[in-house]
Amino acid sequence: MASGSKIEREKITLKHMFKIYCKGKGHGPTICTDCSELLTYSLRRLDKCPHGNKKGSCKDCITHCYKEPERTKIRKVMGYAGPRMMFRHPAMVIGHIRDGKWKSQ
Ligand code: SF4
Ligand SMILES: [Zn+2]
Repeated sequence: MASGSKIEREKITLKHMFKIYCKGKGHGPTICTDCSELLTYSLRRLDKCPHGNKKGSCKDCITHCYKEPERTKIRKVMGYAGPRMMFRHPAMVIGHIRDGKWKSQ
């Protein structure tokens, strides 16, 4: 299980989820430009999250710092990659469950 802050752990998870999504959707052998841009946007949101390491699930956040259309796009990524994470990175998912953050989208 990765160590470090919750924000840093979420960033690592996010990167894995984007890899799963991009590859699974057949965008190419490496992460495509669109996914890369959305990933960068999402990582910046995490860096600037006003809740810091006390944040809960973004899905349930009342602050909703994602703007459209990124918000809709990230939901698609989470919805696709979330269930697949359980099979590919179970330790990571268990860590997020322990943090009280893992929720299927
Ligand atoms: S949606 Fe909420 S919890 Fe997620 S990064 Fe934005 S402010 Fe933080
Ligand atoms: Zn892609």
